[in-house]
Amino acid sequence: SEPLLKVRDLRKYFPIDSPIPFKKSNQSVKAVDGVSFDVMPGETLGVVGESGCGKSTMARLVNQLISPSSGTVEFRGENLIGMDAKKLRETRKSIQMVFQDPYASLDPRKTVGELIAEPLVIHRIGDKASQKKRVLELLEIVGLSHYHAKRYPYEFSGGQRQRINIARALVLNPDIIICDEPVSALDVSVQAQVINLLKELQREYNLTYIFISHDLNVVRYMCDRIAVMYLGKIVEMGTYKEIYENPKHPYTKALLSAIPKESPHDNKERIILKDAIPNPIHPPTGCHFHERCPFMMDICSTKIPQLLDTGNGHIASCHLLKEH
Ligand code: SF4
Ligand code: MG
Repeated sequence: SEPLLKVRDLRKYFPIDSPIPFKKSNQSVKAVDGVSFDVMPGETLGVVGESGCGKSTMARLVNQLISPSSGTVEFRGENLIGMDAKKLRETRKSIQMVFQDPYASLDPRKTVGELIAEPLVIHRIGDKASQKKRVLELLEIVGLSHYHAKRYPYEFSGGQRQRINIARALVLNPDIIICDEPVSALDVSVQAQVINLLKELQREYNLTYIFISHDLNVVRYMCDRIAVMYLGKIVEMGTYKEIYENPKHPYTKALLSAIPKESPHDNKERIILKDAIPNPIHPPTGCHFHERCPFMMDICSTKIPQLLDTGNGHIASCHLLKEH
């Protein structure tokens, strides 16, 4: 089947203010720097990387909350970039988002019922009675109760608030939901409940997800394929199984090393990263990872490695790798 979403060479460069007044700076942060991927209908693509690697910017570009410096985002074969405003507004109903902070994303002055109905009101879908019916239906779908409709966000826990956000994301019957760190702000015990809810909803409504997380341990229960991002680029992408069992890129191996051992016999390669992610204003030359990479070679500091096909639908960019 055809991909639901096709992203090609997407870039977002944020200009940096010049330190000299009235002089235009030509420096920029390459928050997203040439990212390409497909998302198939019904699948979950995980996007993983440390904070500051461009995951959230990428999510906002796909959803068109911000526009890219260049590149294309095709949804059902149509490019969203440069689409006329009316059609884009219509199309964006199918592409919803759930954000990390369940506290910041809900207006505290509105009832839960008003919050869930809001997208229907904005898009003028149905009358008051049918909107109310839909709200009650959704409360049930996300595991809340009818009487919650009259309550305010402060009366709810973090996990319940994320359920409210999920209900809001579902109200327009989207095809794809971009979940940006949806459980990172929640207690570990609550994380699993929200992930299970997202999985049930996917089965029930044939949803497609882009699931963003800094934590490979979280995405392992969720994703069909995983893209690993580092300083604005995808450095590795493959099926869930390939990424966990046969990681190719030293950065992915390092992220996997951070996951606690499953058993004393688990003897997978351990790589502990020394430093923090470099300043994205001045990214390292060559392979952006070279200052932190235990396998660094001479070529790594001068030449940017390209993404290579390493077989089994698996791609990675590292000078250690050979094309399949
Ligand atoms: Fe490490 Fe070089 Fe591979 Fe970059 S290209 S990940 S520095 S070995
Ligand atoms: Mg983020």
